[in-house]
Amino acid sequence: TVSLDKVIKRFGDNTVLDGVSLDIAKGEVVAIIGPSGSGKSTLLRCINALEKIDGGSILVNGEEIGRRATPGGRYEYAELTPQQLARQRAHIGMVFQSFNLFPSMTVLENVTVGPRTVQGVPAAQARANGMARLEEVAMAKFADRYPRTLSGGQQQRVAIARALAMEPSVMLFDEPTSALDPELVGEVIKVLKDLATRGFTMIVVTHEMGFARDVCDRVIFMEGGEIVESGEAHAVFSSPTNVRTQQFLERVL
Ligand code: ATP
Ligand code: MG
Repeated sequence: TVSLDKVIKRFGDNTVLDGVSLDIAKGEVVAIIGPSGSGKSTLLRCINALEKIDGGSILVNGEEIGRRATPGGRYEYAELTPQQLARQRAHIGMVFQSFNLFPSMTVLENVTVGPRTVQGVPAAQARANGMARLEEVAMAKFADRYPRTLSGGQQQRVAIARALAMEPSVMLFDEPTSALDPELVGEVIKVLKDLATRGFTMIVVTHEMGFARDVCDRVIFMEGGEIVESGEAHAVFSSPTNVRTQQFLERVL
């Protein structure tokens, strides 16, 4: 479903993604680990077309992200309009470290605004779907509350429900538990585990090594804008083949 081919991303003369190739199958749950500055967030932002890439290609369900072929020729590419970008992004759910809920909207409004405005879902149907998504993260009873009245773990669960409401084909999580107090990490991990067992395609940048090892199918170690190691989760943790992966794991485990 997600296919990256030799993706290059530069900020000025800083090459942040240096030829990243990666294929993720439908239903696969992939953890991305690696030191600060290695390009993990940038990788997710490129997949979600929040950043434009400088080389290579990213396909989600066979559709190239951030570009479209011009009618004139198959090797030329034209920029997408904001509407086209919004439509592409609707299929790619993203959950950030800092929740990013809309503060002036209730929990339910946060979850229904995307389907209503981007996908044109009628209000009543969006509300019914939204309540179902909130049930899935055990937040339905908070539907009429405002984000500021919720704990961090509750806000993050609403952010996950908001992403789910768009019925994405892939979910991207950028350190979804890093901003939480330690006692709130578990409730968000529980939701992630539940999504994983329900067959969602997920890419999770995380420092939660237990989650990466026990819940994810595959672990990818990034350093310096490259994928240094990629393998079955238990294998990478018990016997990493790359010396840089070994050193990183020794530091964090
Ligand atoms: P962390 O674990 O700290 O979140 P990361 O692996 O997510 O790190 P990125 O945020 O992807 O790393 O950053 C990779 C590199 O790209 C860093 O050198 C960073 O300074 C640079 N970078 C990221 N975003 C921008 C930007 N908008 N403009 C310029 N440089 C950027
Ligand atoms: Mg990051």
